Amino acid sequence: MNLKDYLAASPPILMDGAFGSLLHLKKGGEVRPSFEWNTLDPELVSTMHAQYKKAGAQIMQSNTFALSSWAINHNWTTQQISKEIHLAANILKKIKGVFFAGNIGPCNTNLQKASDIYAQQLESFYEEELFLIIVETMQTQKEVEAFLKAYEKLKTDSSQLIMMANARTTAIQILSIIPESWILSLGFNCGNHPQIFLNLLEQFKSTKPIIVKPSRGIPQKNEKGELVYPISDKEWVLYVEKLIKFGAKLVGGCCGTTPETIKKLKDALTLPSP
Ligand SMILES: [Zn+2]
Repeated sequence: MNLKDYLAASPPILMDGAFGSLLHLKKGGEVRPSFEWNTLDPELVSTMHAQYKKAGAQIMQSNTFALSSWAINHNWTTQQISKEIHLAANILKKIKGVFFAGNIGPCNTNLQKASDIYAQQLESFYEEELFLIIVETMQTQKEVEAFLKAYEKLKTDSSQLIMMANARTTAIQILSIIPESWILSLGFNCGNHPQIFLNLLEQFKSTKPIIVKPSRGIPQKNEKGELVYPISDKEWVLYVEKLIKFGAKLVGGCCGTTPETIKKLKDALTLPSP
């Protein structure tokens, strides 16, 4: 079944949770862009995908979120970007029985080059037959424009697009320029607190299914230097249950969430196994 039909038939659909913050935790706080672990420790990344699947995730995303901003800030070549995408896709596709998505993050700066960086990522994902693209944490309309310019050039009949703005007060405005006919699902991710998602969903009107991926809040460092997230899994699940009541059809986790968080959500929702 394709995702569009599945989404119409069996919402809510459960997605995976964070990669960057979880790798940071698993690697003792080591600071590096999380996609580098695809090269340095592919076994660990593969295990994390498997844990999210076991927890109940039905859509799994490549570990490539940090690639856009890294590539732009380090003047990466097409070949370098392409190599990273193929590596991440190969690790992801070892998991069976889920929908795969190529994950694309924000560029943050240098919007002149952003469109090219997005195009290079899209081309490489399509080469891997990852036609479902999830773009998240978009911060400005200019950035969305840069992505859409690349997407318009490269999209095919198989392409499916999910796009999320960083959950803050300007998020609805940021999404307003996206042609709805290009979109499978629209919504919000990350944010300082899941409460803001409730405020956004009260105001957000879309003919497309709504996606939400809240974080577990803004982390603080403890005395061991580990990042501690203020919102417990239990509290996070309560917020996501409310968001589903407000109409969210795709739900997953951002910073601070783990396979355990997703498992708790799945148990609370008593969804059928994927
Ligand atoms: Zn996040």
